[in-house]
Amino acid sequence: MKPSIFLTLFALMIVPALASTATSHAAEVNIYSARQEHLIKPLLDTFTQQTGIRYRLLTGKGPALLERLKNEGRNSPADVLITVDVGNLVAAKQAGVLQPVSSQILDHNIPSHYRDDDGFWYGLSARSRVIFYAKDRVDPARVDTWEKLAEPALGYRVCVRSSSNIYNQSLMAAMIAHHGEEKALDWAFGLVKNFGRKPQDNDTGQIRAVAAGECDVAIANTYYYARLMASADPADQQVVEKVALLWPNQAGRGTHMNLSGAGIARSAKHVDAALALIEFLSGETAQAFYSAQNNEYPVNPAVPSSGIVSEMGDFKADTLNLSDIEKHSSQAIRLMDRAGWR
Ligand code: FE
Repeated sequence: MKPSIFLTLFALMIVPALASTATSHAAEVNIYSARQEHLIKPLLDTFTQQTGIRYRLLTGKGPALLERLKNEGRNSPADVLITVDVGNLVAAKQAGVLQPVSSQILDHNIPSHYRDDDGFWYGLSARSRVIFYAKDRVDPARVDTWEKLAEPALGYRVCVRSSSNIYNQSLMAAMIAHHGEEKALDWAFGLVKNFGRKPQDNDTGQIRAVAAGECDVAIANTYYYARLMASADPADQQVVEKVALLWPNQAGRGTHMNLSGAGIARSAKHVDAALALIEFLSGETAQAFYSAQNNEYPVNPAVPSSGIVSEMGDFKADTLNLSDIEKHSSQAIRLMDRAGWR
């Protein structure tokens, strides 16, 4: 027997009504963020204004948030994990605390090499790890690739932070992806031989050490240098005067890139709202903010860089698919250890 016209009409009326009720119940999203509150809150407030979706924000260090997600398991209130470094995104995927999603908006806004092949995480801002050198005593042509920093005859002292730092682990994983395990290990051995001091301090500390004459060359992410450029402190201005930024591997593959990004928690009770948030963060408003406020690079190719970031100039970025870091992350730590990079 066919359903009556009345029933069909009734169904047509009630389904949209139920759907909109479901949406209003779901109009909230719980965020675990390794990005500091002041870097993310203005964006989240704009998201709420535009969508009516309210948010709750818990901030913490990346590894601590991951531990928390693991411990909370299915009971976790988290809908979205926002974190920095592809190494942390990969670790969250491998720990099973994220779920895969697909979205035409995300696929359109984010180039494929800046998102997980399986949809577990999406890059939201790009960051570049580069080489810095002392203007008064280093010939930039001798240090203009990652490979040159490991040459036995380099004659310059290289400063870099510890191998426990995720930025270095991701750089090492990228070296393995490009050169294979054996050559990457040789590179790490050569680099360690050129260390000017025992690895210590943070990225800014490496740049300062070059200015202070403790090293000739430093490895650091560009936004730390941008912060020094923007600083009103005369001591910071002196550092910028003495130390130059160099984009590595410009004649070849381009410089090593990394990401901040987000994924939807496996425990998410508000998947639609969580996805709407990540889509918003990949859109024009948020992407422009990442560049203007955080001194990082938009992943969305439709959005230009601005502010200090554009003052630092254009460069060729490595287009290595950052999903490949996953294959090499544990190997990277082992090889750095073998090379004596502490
Ligand atoms: Fe950082």
